[in-house]
Amino acid sequence: MVDGKPCPCGQKATLEDCCGRYVTGDQWAPTAEALMRSRFTAYALGQVDYLLDTLHSSQRQRGEKLQLQRSLKQTRWLHLQVLQTEAGQPEDERGIVEFVAVYGLAKPMAGMAGLLGTARTETPQLAQMHERSRFVQEEGRWFYVDGDQLPDYKPQRNQPCWCGSGTKFKQCHG
Ligand SMILES: [Zn+2]
Ligand SMILES: [Zn+2]
Repeated sequence: MVDGKPCPCGQKATLEDCCGRYVTGDQWAPTAEALMRSRFTAYALGQVDYLLDTLHSSQRQRGEKLQLQRSLKQTRWLHLQVLQTEAGQPEDERGIVEFVAVYGLAKPMAGMAGLLGTARTETPQLAQMHERSRFVQEEGRWFYVDGDQLPDYKPQRNQPCWCGSGTKFKQCHG
């Protein structure tokens, strides 16, 4: 990992000082939110092993590694916003984190677009994943269990857009 790079999870800290130390396995994420952020960072960096290590044992499946690798190839995770958390502190056994993660599909339908003669855009189509995730802590380690997919998150008109552009929602995707 490169020194001094901002953390993909969106905190104002370098990757090293933020999620990097969890993704490398040097430390365990102390809270459900920290685990969630570090999992987003692992998605952004393609760290499949960390995603599997932090997935609760009840959710493990055959072929999951291949599936993850495939989905990581097609998706670029770009931006994370944590909307709210419940429990998930070091002294808790459970935690909930609601977040919006923004992703782009890498060269969506390039072959198909070519066939149809439509222009291929450089900028991927942005989409969001709005989820309420459940986490458990077992023997000092937080794990992701599962989550409920929620309808697309719509900020207030004058709040920053969900896509991470920094523009007000009403002037961006509003
Ligand atoms: Zn981070
Ligand atoms: Zn936007």
